[in-house]
Amino acid sequence: MSAEQITRFVAKPLALAALLGAGLVAQQAWAQANIVVNFINTGTVGYNDPTPAAPVGGNPGLTLGEQRRIATQHAANLWAATLTSAATIRINAQFTAQSCTETSATLGSAGPIGNFRNFPEAPFQDTWYPSALRNKLAGNEATAGSAQLQINFNVNLGTPGCLSASPWYFGVDNNPPPGAINLVVVLLHEFGHGLGFTVGPTNGQTGARSSNSPSIWERYMLDNQTGKTWFEMTNAERAASAIGIDRLVWSGPQVTAAVPSVLQQGIATASVTGPAVRSPLTVNVGEASFGPAISSTPFTGEVAPVVDQPDGITGLACVPLSPANARAVQGRIALVDRGTCNFIVKTANLQAAGAIGMLVADNVAAAIPPNVGGVNPAATIPSASVRQVDGNFIKEQLKRRSRSTTGVFVTLTRTGTQFAGADAAGRIKLFTPNPFQGGSSVSHYDVTAFRHQLMEPAINGDLTQSVIPPQDLTFRLFQDIGW
Ligand SMILES: [Zn+2]
Repeated sequence: MSAEQITRFVAKPLALAALLGAGLVAQQAWAQANIVVNFINTGTVGYNDPTPAAPVGGNPGLTLGEQRRIATQHAANLWAATLTSAATIRINAQFTAQSCTETSATLGSAGPIGNFRNFPEAPFQDTWYPSALRNKLAGNEATAGSAQLQINFNVNLGTPGCLSASPWYFGVDNNPPPGAINLVVVLLHEFGHGLGFTVGPTNGQTGARSSNSPSIWERYMLDNQTGKTWFEMTNAERAASAIGIDRLVWSGPQVTAAVPSVLQQGIATASVTGPAVRSPLTVNVGEASFGPAISSTPFTGEVAPVVDQPDGITGLACVPLSPANARAVQGRIALVDRGTCNFIVKTANLQAAGAIGMLVADNVAAAIPPNVGGVNPAATIPSASVRQVDGNFIKEQLKRRSRSTTGVFVTLTRTGTQFAGADAAGRIKLFTPNPFQGGSSVSHYDVTAFRHQLMEPAINGDLTQSVIPPQDLTFRLFQDIGW
């Protein structure tokens, strides 16, 4: 969802005394922070856009600009009710052009303005803290009246050439129509980066530190194979860890204690049987953010392919199924290929044809199956995805099908005790794809987290406006670093 692009370092002089033992801040039963948003667009764009708009989803604004301001203030209020700080939190926000194509877009980008070390109240010496957190710990503003966060949102979203089918949704009721992008959720995400959800001034790709000091994050970024934190690693070790798929976890006690109440226990799998399968093939599946969730109660169905493309082996289900194909998938789990249209379009067409489930085969070779994202409250059938190689395996089995039966069955279930998106020790994974993804790697939770988390690198349809358990682990991480 973002890039940590804006990081101006404000190095403070070394102070001799650091307050020891302040690492664990007493939890308060109340929360209160004052957040001031500076809308810094100039002219008639972004927050000042005078284009008339109709009130939507609890947002009474009558222009695009006004709706953007109201949604932004709504998200700021949610964070203000969660955080505790005696120092006013100031945010510079604007809508600007962001990288964008018809199939993908940077929704927003954000980061702290400035990082501080060796202020008297710092729990750890020689450690960088994002400026809003520094102010919270110090109880004052380092620079009175200055903003501590910079946030940019994509002003072109939903226009030709920039995810034209996915405009912003400015409602504040967490109920966007299919395809629209929920601005309030993206706001909460970007505010999260600016408040401190980022590896900070340490370079996530090279492992190099700013002025030889670690960021506060490094103490909790643990390689679960070597047992070392980033704090204990060399630059080269940090760089390797940043692309060490499934190895880098967050070890902070607040997040780890909350993992069982937030993440689903058990890994979602598909077991495939067929006439030519000697023993069932069990593979991990990507889960859907709509429709019935995969549970520990097995869901079994016969698989039938969707074949709506000229090559006879590819089925996209982007348009209503032909009568013959609808008969073939009726009462069965429909196998479709990823691509061309959104997952929710495919599900809707299959559901209308009488299918009892959707299994999506990835259309590119990837290490893990894709998340089946989207919002569709009308979905009543379960959906899941498999890797391209696993999809090809199933297609091979289906070639032997007869007129009356395909003979291929899939069982979707959730097995084991591991939490989805966490390692075997119950620590949530950070996002560490290989190769490194600038702006996304390291400074997000992993995409395998389920339920999905606000601070994953991409938006998912099951996100709420909550940043605390049992929905979300963002604020728990903030507590680990000193909020
Ligand atoms: Zn992000």
